Amino acid sequence: MSKQTLSFQAEVAQLLHLVTHSLYSNPEIFLRELISNASDACDKLRFEGLNNAALFEDAPNLEVRVAFDKAARTITITDNGIGLSQQEAIDNLGTIAKSGTKEFMGKLSGDQKADAQLIGQFGVGFYSGFIVADKITVESRRAGLSAEEGVRWVSGGTGDFEVDTITRAQRGTSITLHLRDDAEEYLNAWKLKSVISKYSDHISLPILMEKEEWKEGENDQPGAMVPTGEWEAINKASALWTRPKKDITAEQYNDFYKAISHDFEDPLTWAHNRVEGNTEYTQLLYIPAKAPFDLWNRDKKAGVKLYVKRVFIMDDAEALMPTYLRFVKGVIDSADLPLNVSRELLQESRDVRAIREGSTKRVLSMLEDLAKHDKHDTTPNADGVTDVVDPDDKAKEGKYTRFYAEFGAVLKEGLGEDFANTQRLAKLLRYASTQSDTVSVSLADYKARMKEGQDAIYYITADNLAAAKNSPQLEVFKKKGIEVLLMTDRVDEWSLNYLQEFDGTPLQSVAKGAVDLGKLQDEAEKKAAEEAAEAFKPLLAKLKEALKDKAEDVRVTTRLVDSPACLVVQDGGMSTQLARMLKQAGQAAPESKPVLEVNAEHALVKKLDGSVHFNDLAHILFDQALLAEGGLPEDPAAYVKRVNALLA
Ligand code: ADP
Repeated sequence: MSKQTLSFQAEVAQLLHLVTHSLYSNPEIFLRELISNASDACDKLRFEGLNNAALFEDAPNLEVRVAFDKAARTITITDNGIGLSQQEAIDNLGTIAKSGTKEFMGKLSGDQKADAQLIGQFGVGFYSGFIVADKITVESRRAGLSAEEGVRWVSGGTGDFEVDTITRAQRGTSITLHLRDDAEEYLNAWKLKSVISKYSDHISLPILMEKEEWKEGENDQPGAMVPTGEWEAINKASALWTRPKKDITAEQYNDFYKAISHDFEDPLTWAHNRVEGNTEYTQLLYIPAKAPFDLWNRDKKAGVKLYVKRVFIMDDAEALMPTYLRFVKGVIDSADLPLNVSRELLQESRDVRAIREGSTKRVLSMLEDLAKHDKHDTTPNADGVTDVVDPDDKAKEGKYTRFYAEFGAVLKEGLGEDFANTQRLAKLLRYASTQSDTVSVSLADYKARMKEGQDAIYYITADNLAAAKNSPQLEVFKKKGIEVLLMTDRVDEWSLNYLQEFDGTPLQSVAKGAVDLGKLQDEAEKKAAEEAAEAFKPLLAKLKEALKDKAEDVRVTTRLVDSPACLVVQDGGMSTQLARMLKQAGQAAPESKPVLEVNAEHALVKKLDGSVHFNDLAHILFDQALLAEGGLPEDPAAYVKRVNALLA
């Protein structure tokens, strides 16, 4: 290959611009990112070396060296990992292959602070070097290739980069940062050491720096620190999760989380355990405080990394965590899996299944623990005694609410995915209700407040809280003071297909099927309803005929108090709201006609009988019921015409 100049992929150019303009407030992360890449490269070599020991050449000890040159104003990070071939340097350092790149670019707002957070999550990796450097030189040779097949890659971090063939005896990669004027502080051993130990203690290979010693100046010259030629490790180089819990501080747990997740914020909580038994493994699992930008991408890499006996195996270990827990970050290190475990093997292995079940349960118990301590009851009891809350538990206050606001909707997917844990998941659900505008009502809270004689948990689904609260279907429940859960997440209706009952009590949509308030209705009310239905029969038949293209059935209801009519779906049917959502998303929704229910007590309905406008009124009644639940009449112009005709 002769020297050539190539352009960055458009996304890279965009990302580079962002990196240099948004991340300067936290420049030191460049070291974390570059050391993390170096460590990944060593992991890759170790993994490929399992089947091809020759790749280790004559340097079996994997390591990273960090050096600086004050005169040349450079920092160089060198690893003896897998290295890059010429083509890999062009592909990997000139394009972004990451999934979700487009989504990520679309989320950027131009607000530097918000964007910096997002960029952090996305992981700028190699490109973070340009926060402190105005030129980066990469020299590399892939393990297994000959010394003449090395590559040099140079770029100023704007539109293009240069690649050239070089001879490089040592396998692996050296990255040299030519520092900007304002990044001079990194030309200092003490500064580099402090940043490295902050971010890299958990990295399991040694990160070396050359020792310096003080040398007195001669001939009246001032003294200075000079290199000794001796290299020392500056990180602990033991994987954090392998250390005993008692030796790890909360700060170290938090730093490790940030390193593996690229998150800027501390996690809400973590669990670190050695699991013994049929399968032996260590798990260190974190619940983040903030949802990532690509939470809704169900195909994204899972956040749990798989290690086997401390050797990194893969980080899209979906097999280790169900999709609905895709927000969990962490590490699982198995003592039993073979080192050359493949993706296929992962899917089938009994050990892996046991790990997945165990880890799922662990996450659920973490959430249960947060939920339990979300609020502490500090009201004194009858004897005037107030419970003292343990400080550790006190620190958990409000965390479940935060968790739920970020990840509640994802957790609900679990109802349709993880049947073994349905009831545990059900206990973790929270909703708004006619008694609470905040999403804080658990099914157990609801049950505890149920009215005498009430035998179902009532709920309604709608596009938003206001629409839910004002649904005509709620009228009779409001009148009778019966609480109804208000559900506004897109997944609610789908997920409740999988939750028919909670703790022995069925869940019932107030917009589905005929209302049966059962014992909540007194005898007089029942009788009145039956009589009304009887008296209305002829009118109902006429309405049914007039609306036969729109409504499956027309019936008298006890559901309504103030509204003349509402739409309901047959028991087991899909709500009109969900059908609408599916259609909007371009998906097939079953074509089913709703049932129109009318309020026999309403003045408008009473007027119907014998009206010369019967046909128009019937259609208006139907279309208004549709409008009331956020839908649109099939033919809005016809609706307007009818209303106007009446108004005139
Ligand atoms: P990421 O690490 O998230 O994939 P980066 O932008 O940090 O993204 O790096 C892009 C790619 O460049 C990496 O996936 C890897 O293939 C390659 N790379 C970066 N640094 C090194 C290195 N020190 N040794 C070998 N390959 C590297």
